[in-house]
Amino acid sequence: MTILIAGGGIGGLTLALSLHQIGVPARVFESVSELKPLGVGINVLPHAVRELIELGLLDRLDAAGVRTRELAYFSKHGKPIWSEARGLEAGYKWPQFSIHRGTLQQILLDAAVERLGRENILTSHHLTGWTETAGGVRAEFIDKATGKPAGAYEGDLLIAADGIHSAVREKLYPQEGPPIWNGRILWRGVTPDNAFLTGRTMIMAGHEILKFVCYPISKTPDAGGKYQINWVAERHMPPTYQWRREDYNRTAKLDEFLPWFRDWKFDWLDVPGLIENCPPLNYP
Ligand SMILES: Cc1cc2nc3c(=O)[nH]c(=O)nc-3n(C[C@H](O)[C@H](O)[C@H](O)COP(=O)(O)OP(=O)(O)OC[C@H]3O[C@@H](n4cnc5c(N)ncnc54)[C@H](O)[C@@H]3O)c2cc1C
Repeated sequence: MTILIAGGGIGGLTLALSLHQIGVPARVFESVSELKPLGVGINVLPHAVRELIELGLLDRLDAAGVRTRELAYFSKHGKPIWSEARGLEAGYKWPQFSIHRGTLQQILLDAAVERLGRENILTSHHLTGWTETAGGVRAEFIDKATGKPAGAYEGDLLIAADGIHSAVREKLYPQEGPPIWNGRILWRGVTPDNAFLTGRTMIMAGHEILKFVCYPISKTPDAGGKYQINWVAERHMPPTYQWRREDYNRTAKLDEFLPWFRDWKFDWLDVPGLIENCPPLNYP
């Protein structure tokens, strides 16, 4: 039995590793030509970490991420509202990790290449369609960069892990339409800055309309004593508000959102400072 997986994101790579672990051959087909460590921070909750630990990846997660120990809520004036323990400190058997999304993907990719072999992790293979055959499925691919055919592959099953704008889902469920926007816009960044609170705290400040979330994603300070602080500035717009389609890699404009957070200078966290001092995410 061979499983074809369309999409080499966090879902597709984790699935490939889990299938390999139970002895089911799998092959990943990723649309882009090179998987680069894109994105900013991601919080991996204990139930997801459990799966990654089962895959033998705990040491790699520990080397690259921060074990989140607390989630704390604050008002827009930085006054405490509520805090609660997370991960092991909250009694789970598995920690919660704050980690760079690109680093997590790279950990999964390295493990997938080591265990399944590079020949089973194919890039420049964009799924364009499939047909059911007597024995399973035949999937067709193109190289999206050139538009040229990249071959057809047979398998027993095809699993779509092609992300939020899944073309497979669209074909299977055309009546669903595109994902429905909930009106939330998130500006994101990673800024070298001082540790705050416990040093392993994830904070949410503000309210329903305007919110700032941040947490450290590096355990050890850089030469200047700073940690990588991941942040999300979030604004809830009316659902009818016209906005560009989301893009994890598009550079944001400060004047589009910084003014709303200008006064959010707490004695324990400088929100406008974090936003202003964020270096550009120079993706290769
Ligand atoms: C570039 C990028 C940056 C992100 N950054 C963050 C972040 O900083 N923080 C955060 O919390 N979440 C981030 N996310 C979202 C988060 O990774 C995903 O929502 C979550 O991990 C779900 O993973 P997934 O595997 O379902 O989808 P994704 O991680 O979106 O992966 C889907 C993969 O499928 C590939 N693909 C798409 N269409 C096809 C096709 N037809 N054939 C073959 N392959 C295809 C895509 O290139 C992509 O690699 C990011 C996602 C992306 C793509």
